[in-house]
Formats: sequence, structure tokens, C-alpha cells
Amino acid sequence: MLTTTEALDRVLAAMPELPVESVALRDAHGRVLRQVVAAERDQPPFDRVMMDGIAIAHRDFTNGTRRFPVQCTQMAGDPAVELAPGKAIEIMTGASLPVNADCIVPVERITVDQGVATLDEGYEAEAARFIHPRASDHAAGSRLLAPGRRISPLDIAVIASAGMTSVDASRSPVVRVISTGNELVAAGEDIEPHQVRLSNGPAIQALLARHGYPDCEHDHLVDERALLRERISAHLDEADVVILSGGVSMGKADYVPDVLAEIGVEVSFHRISQRPGKPMWFGTGPGGQAVFALPGNPVSALVCCRQYVIPALAKASGAPAAPPEFASLASDVAFQPDLTCFQPVRLVSSAAGQVLAIPVKTNTSGDFTALSATDGYVELPREQSLFPAGTSVFLYRW
Ligand code: AMP
Ligand code: MG
Repeated sequence: MLTTTEALDRVLAAMPELPVESVALRDAHGRVLRQVVAAERDQPPFDRVMMDGIAIAHRDFTNGTRRFPVQCTQMAGDPAVELAPGKAIEIMTGASLPVNADCIVPVERITVDQGVATLDEGYEAEAARFIHPRASDHAAGSRLLAPGRRISPLDIAVIASAGMTSVDASRSPVVRVISTGNELVAAGEDIEPHQVRLSNGPAIQALLARHGYPDCEHDHLVDERALLRERISAHLDEADVVILSGGVSMGKADYVPDVLAEIGVEVSFHRISQRPGKPMWFGTGPGGQAVFALPGNPVSALVCCRQYVIPALAKASGAPAAPPEFASLASDVAFQPDLTCFQPVRLVSSAAGQVLAIPVKTNTSGDFTALSATDGYVELPREQSLFPAGTSVFLYRW
């Protein structure tokens, strides 16, 4: 049986690389950038005034001038006016520095009367003060964003400032989520006492959406070999990634691994030395599709989705692996089996600046309502069985 690390390595190595497409700026948030974004112009593009006030020539101040006739007013967006000797131009924040001016005096430090601006008694005007020099942030052509980052709202500002209406980004993966099980009935449909509400499909869709993959279709299939063969094949024809839940354990109706083999999905592994989620299955379809078959137990399905599917989708999209996160156990945890334990936790931050993980008990791997109170889970390595409070552990947030 593979360890959790071996399983993740195999999954990542098997992921196809999604192609690049051009994405309109307004749809680019959350996508993975696949090009360099370079500065269209110098930033600032001109010597930019940083205060409302007057623009003067500092030489006039050093020569003793304190009263400056106001030549005109220049707003942000106006072309730079040429300043006449001994005069001032009334100037607004964001305006381009007038020609011949090299000093801004803030409006708070002057009085304007009958078209003449007088500096406050004793005010020491400084050359270059309150001027944001052209190209001091970056020069035209500078590399602003590198490929491989997930585009954030701040990146959108950078892309827009580079004058781009679209960017090259990874195509979103086409993902199909398939819930299997005769007992499952979706919300909104009539349900019998012996049946179970289908929750994994919508939960997996929501988890994928949270991580940047919002448009994943869902299907529900009953445990019938012929139907599973036909429908999973059809989904494979359309998808880059197929995520099944249920039907991978030892039950008599757990047909999923057999059916996947029959339709040409090559198994990479079945079972991982972990709890929850030990029965997980993974393989590669005839067209290179990644096929994840997660255990049906809701806690297992969600942990496996977060642990393996999310990093796999990021890899396929060209995003770098997320840096590891750590938390400190808030209480002792004992876990005897020779398996890696993924322990759901609630997080609090301590006054000392530590992230504390409070273990939240799920009675069984089917007790998923308790998961709502959690922020993620921590990884307790299999070599150990007692984890004292204060132990530093890997943290995975939902
Ligand atoms: P299985 O892995 O198919 O044996 O399913 C294990 C358990 O998880 C069973 O109790 C199922 O009823 C439950 N289960 C499986 N799939 C789902 C689902 N999509 N939503 C909610 N519970 C499920
Ligand atoms: Mg089942």
C-alpha cells in the first residue's frame, strides 16, 4: 500500500498539462497566468504631483520669493503647462508636473488671495518634495508578473495597468464529478426511510469552486455495471479529470475499479495507508485523463479531494505547489493504527502569533456534519501514535 506522499507524487506525475488560451481580463481572476506581463509604460508615466497645492520653481524660493501670482490651474489629466518665472500653477494630486516646476507646496501651507499664493511664514519649500518621479516604480518593458501564478485581484490591477484586455492563461480543466450509489437521493427529490441524501457531489463541486474550478458538472449513477461503463465512458470522452465517489471498497456493489479497468482506465494505485480515505483509487484514462475514485464516506471523500485532487488540478493548470502550512496541536491526540491520520481541526490563532489546531472529533468517516465546524485537517505521520499538545504538524485548509 502506498504512503500518502507516494500517492500524491504519483498523482502529480500523471497529470496532463492543460493548454493555454486567451482569457478576457474580466474572466481572468483565479486563472493561472501563462505569460509574462510587462509594463506598457513607465510608472509613473510622468513626474506625478502627490499633493493638492501649487507648483513653483524652487529657484524662485531660494531667491527669496514668497508671494507667487497664480498663472493658471492644472488638474489631473491635463497636459503639463509651462510655468512662467516667479509664478505658481495651482495643481491637483495626480497631475503631471508643470514644465519648469520642481517644487510642490501643499495647499495647507499657503493662502491664496486675489490670485496670489503666499507661503506660510517660515515654510521651507524643498525641491522634488511631493513629486513621484517618472519611472521610479518601474520602467516601460519591466517584467511585472511571471507565468505560473494564480491571478489575484491585485494582479488584475497590474494587468489592466499594462493596458491588456486579455491574458494567456491555462484553460480551465473540464471536470466531471460522479456520485455512485443506489441508496443516494438528491436534495429536492422524494426520499424513503432506507435511502440517503446525496451530499458528496455538491460538496466536492463547492470545494473545487473554492480552489478556482467553478464549473464542474455532476452526475449520479446507480451501482449497475453496464450503466457505470456507459456513463463513465461518456464522461471520459468530454473531461480532463473525472472524480467519482463511492463504490471503491470491498462491498458486493463496489464495481468502480473493475468498470474503470474495463473501459481502459489504467490503475495507478488502489488504497493509501491513511485514515480516512484508505480505499482511494487513482488511474489514467485512454486519453490521459486523470481519474480519481474516492471512497463514498463523506469525510473520506472530502479529505481525499482536498489532499489529492486539488493539488492535481493546480499542477495541471501550471500553478506551483502551494507552500506547506503548519499548525501547533492544541491538545494531545492518540492514533494507534499504522496509518497516516488526517485529523479534522478548527483553527484559532494565539496571542503569541501561533496557529493552533483544535482536533474536532468525527465519530466515523460518515459523520460529516461535524466537519462544518472545521477549517481543515492536520497530518499525523504514521510512524508515531501519540502526538502531544504543541506538536507542529502539516495543516491543510479546506
Ligand atoms: P461506498 O464507498 O459506496 O461504500 O459508500 C460509503 C458510505 O458513504 C455509504 O454509507 C454511502 O451511503 C455514503 N455515501 C456514498 N456516496 C455518498 C454521497 N454522494 N453522498 C452522501 N453519502 C454518500
Ligand atoms: Mg456505494
